[in-house]
Amino acid sequence: MRKIYMDYNATTPVRPEVLEAMLPFYTEHFGNPSSVHWAGRAVKGAIENAREQVATLINCSPAEIVFTSCGSEGDNFALKGTVDALKEKGNHIITTTVEHPAVLETCEYLEKQGCEVTYLPVDRDGMLDLQELEAAITDKTILISVMWANNETGNIFPIEEIGAIARKYKVRFHTDAVQVVGRIPVDMQKANVDLAVISGHKLGAPKGVGAIFVRRGTRMTQFMHGGHQERHRRAGTHNVAGIVGLGKACEIAQQTMELDAPRVRRLRDKLEKGIMEAIPEVKLNGHPDKRLPNTLNVSFAYIEGESILLNFDMKGIAASSGSACTSGSLEPSHVMCAMCVDIVLAHSSTRFSLGPDNTEEDVDYILQELPPIVQRLRDMSPLFNNDARMSCNQCRVVRRA
Ligand SMILES: *Cc1c(COP(=O)(O)O)cnc(C)c1O
Repeated sequence: MRKIYMDYNATTPVRPEVLEAMLPFYTEHFGNPSSVHWAGRAVKGAIENAREQVATLINCSPAEIVFTSCGSEGDNFALKGTVDALKEKGNHIITTTVEHPAVLETCEYLEKQGCEVTYLPVDRDGMLDLQELEAAITDKTILISVMWANNETGNIFPIEEIGAIARKYKVRFHTDAVQVVGRIPVDMQKANVDLAVISGHKLGAPKGVGAIFVRRGTRMTQFMHGGHQERHRRAGTHNVAGIVGLGKACEIAQQTMELDAPRVRRLRDKLEKGIMEAIPEVKLNGHPDKRLPNTLNVSFAYIEGESILLNFDMKGIAASSGSACTSGSLEPSHVMCAMCVDIVLAHSSTRFSLGPDNTEEDVDYILQELPPIVQRLRDMSPLFNNDARMSCNQCRVVRRA
């Protein structure tokens, strides 16, 4: 059976060149980078090389990169490390209702520890009102945390503008940059961010490695206590092979992004247009333009996203409903809810997230398989066959006879 992977926002395959760069660090280069002897020294150099590769991709100094075990760790570190370091100054955090659970659930934990958190709403396109953000800042605000791009809709937030607001009020600014790094150009200097989180497995490096940009001079309480690795910011013997892989993936992204991004966008746009033309009553979730080039999130009225996915799976197509972290639960995604997507449509939200390995034929195959699946599921759906069709004008449901 044909296999098509369109779930790059959940994870990506390790690039072959990345694996190749990593392998020696499981065998001949086995040293502990903290050791002073030859075995350690050989490995220490590789870590510093990877640090430079990551720093180059996001335009910062290598000294501002701290390696972590994953994106979730980075978000935990950014929030908890800030709250702990700045508790004399205040206890108020501003974030959004559409963040990844790594931010949202950390905020909920911090609320129990005495923090106050403002969760900014989004509009029906999933975008923020920056005036509302600015108005939420008080003299107790210590941190603004807004993701660079949303994993479910692909929406890109105006990070430079938010960074300028944070600067104006001298509030620290953290961004979960997991979905943008390696996909679109990002520049830590222009963005005015103080903390930015990266995850290896979202850009062609392996799972279990990540990094966080910590702007020079940003006071943070150490997240992992123990050894003196990572300038005392993160204890624990380095995941050497993983770090080498992350560095290599960043180097490759730097070289290929310029060509990959428009190619992926063209495929995504073809898929989007094809779906809208072939299937009635489909709604685009997210902003039509301010969106990652690889992400398409659509709702097929009257049917469940989960049943689409199961039918897709039988045809070898891997896509996603909501985020990977919440699928399996029957709750509609918190992102769809935050965007006021009608509950029935929220349940049918389906995400296609493309990557550099996808082809024109992949898109053609999906456009061939999807309409009959949707038709069959709608024929079985009591909602679809009800005379009183759901009406939700505000949600921009595309209706065709
Ligand atoms: C995947 C993802 C994370 C979590 O990264 P892990 O490395 O899987 O822990 C955090 N934020 C966003 C936006 C993500 O897409």
